[in-house]
Amino acid sequence: MRKSRLKEINVIEKPTRDVQWRIGLVYPNSYSVGMSGLTIKLLYHLLNQHQNIFVERVFFSETLPGPPKSIETGKILSQFDLLAFTFQFELDYINAIKMLLRSGIPVFAEDRMEDHPLLLAGGPTVTANPEPLFDIFDVFFSGEFESVAEIFLEAVISSKNGILSDSILSVPGFYTPDTFYQLSPGITSNLDEVNYPTAQVRPIKPLKKGVLDGYFLQISRGCTHGCHFCLIGKYFRPQRERSLPMLKNLIDRGTLDTKTEFFSLIGSSVADYSQLKGLLDYFIKKKLKFTLPSIRIDSGIDVLDSIKQTGLRSLSIAPETALEDVRFKIGKKISNSQISEFLHKADLYNIQEIRLYFILGLTSGIVSESQEIVNLVNNLADFYPIKLTMSVTPLIPKRGTKLVDKCVNYKEIQEGFNILKKNLGKTIRFKSFPVHWAAIQAILSIGGRELTPIMTDIANDGGSYQSWKKNFDMEPIDYYLAYYCR
Ligand code: SF4
Repeated sequence: MRKSRLKEINVIEKPTRDVQWRIGLVYPNSYSVGMSGLTIKLLYHLLNQHQNIFVERVFFSETLPGPPKSIETGKILSQFDLLAFTFQFELDYINAIKMLLRSGIPVFAEDRMEDHPLLLAGGPTVTANPEPLFDIFDVFFSGEFESVAEIFLEAVISSKNGILSDSILSVPGFYTPDTFYQLSPGITSNLDEVNYPTAQVRPIKPLKKGVLDGYFLQISRGCTHGCHFCLIGKYFRPQRERSLPMLKNLIDRGTLDTKTEFFSLIGSSVADYSQLKGLLDYFIKKKLKFTLPSIRIDSGIDVLDSIKQTGLRSLSIAPETALEDVRFKIGKKISNSQISEFLHKADLYNIQEIRLYFILGLTSGIVSESQEIVNLVNNLADFYPIKLTMSVTPLIPKRGTKLVDKCVNYKEIQEGFNILKKNLGKTIRFKSFPVHWAAIQAILSIGGRELTPIMTDIANDGGSYQSWKKNFDMEPIDYYLAYYCR
C-alpha cells in the first residue's frame, strides 16, 4: 500500500531503472468522478502490463492551483512521453484544454514540438465525434481498447528509437484526422479471452454515498437493443457476455485482490445477461453485496425474485418517456402497463426504492411530454408504496445515432422541467440536468473543428457558463438553435 495523503490500494509502482516510456493516463474530470467508473481502473491495469512502460493517473481539479500532477509520483504533464486522455462526457473537453494550458503545453497540435508529449484521445464521445478535438490531439482511438492492448504496448516499446505516433498508428483502431473516415470502431469479440483486472486500484475510504465503489465487475459489453438516442446501441454492437465461470473466478479473485466484499456490476443492459440468475445466486452463496446499473423493464421483471434474495432494495429503470408510441418509435418497445407491472412485482419482492430515468425533448410537444410524465409517475406513486426518484435529462443528439438530426428546443424543455417540479407528487424526488449545459453538450456532440478555437478561448476564460455566453456572443441555447439545429 502506498503512503500518501490519498490512501489507495493496488497502486502500481515500477523501478525507475526499468522504465523506458512514461504514459500519463488523463481523466479530464475530478478524481471522484474518474474513480467511480470502470474506464480508469481498466486502462490503468491494461496499460501497465509491460514492465518497461509506466502509466500514472492524472485527474482534473478545479480548485488545486498550478499544473495538474500525477497521483502516483506527482509528475506534471510535460514529463510524460504520451498523454492518453479518455473522454466520457463532451463537457470535459474544456477541462482537458485547461489542463494543457496550466501545464504550459500548446493546445494546438501544430504548435507543439518534438519534445512535447504525444497527445492521444479516446472514449465514447471521441468514438462518436472526434472532430472538435482534431486540431488538438495527435492520435485518436476508436472502439474498445482491451482487444488491442497488447499490440499497443508492443508498438510503444518498439518505437524506442523511432517515432511514437508512427508505431501507434499501426495498431487497429488508432488514426489521425486524415485517416478518420476509413475507420469503424473495433470491438472485443470474446470477453473471456481479454485481460481484466482482479486487483483494481481504489481509494480505501468510499468516495461518497451513492457512487459506485468496491470491485467493478463488467459482465457484458454492448447491447442487443438499438435505442435511437444511444451511442452504445449504435457503436458497440452486438452484446457480448463474460461467461458465468469467468465471472465467478473474477468475483473470487476480486474479493481477495481488491480487498472488498462489495461489487459494482457493469454492463449496458445487465438484465439481458443470460446467466443473471446464476450470477446473483453466486453473490447470495458467497454473502457478497452488489449494486446493479439501470435494468431493462422487460427482462428485469424476470429476475426480481432472485434480486429479492440478494437483499438489494433499490433499482433503476429507464422508461425514457411516458408516451408509449414515442417509446416504441425510439426503439424501446415497452408499454406503460409493463412499467406498472414491474413496480407491482418490485413491491411484492420488497424493493423499497426505484429510480426512473426520463429524457425530455423526444417530440416537439414538450409540454405534453412533461404532462404525460407527471400523469404516469403520479399514478405509479399513488398505486405502489415504493419511494420514487426521478432523473430527467434533456435529449442530447449524438453523431451517428438516429436522433442526430433532431432539433431540440431547450427553451421549452425548461418549461417542461417547471411543469414537472410543480405537478409531481410531494413524495417523488426529482432531479434534472441543467438545460443550458445540455445545449452546450449538444453543440459539442454534433459540432466540428470550428469549435476548437472557441473552446480554447472559453478554457482560457475559466470555462464557466458566463464564458461560453461571452464567446458565443449570445446564450448557448440561442447559439445551438441558430447554428446546430437542423
Ligand atoms: S437498452 Fe440501454 S444500452 Fe441498450 S440501446 Fe437502449 S439505451 Fe442503449
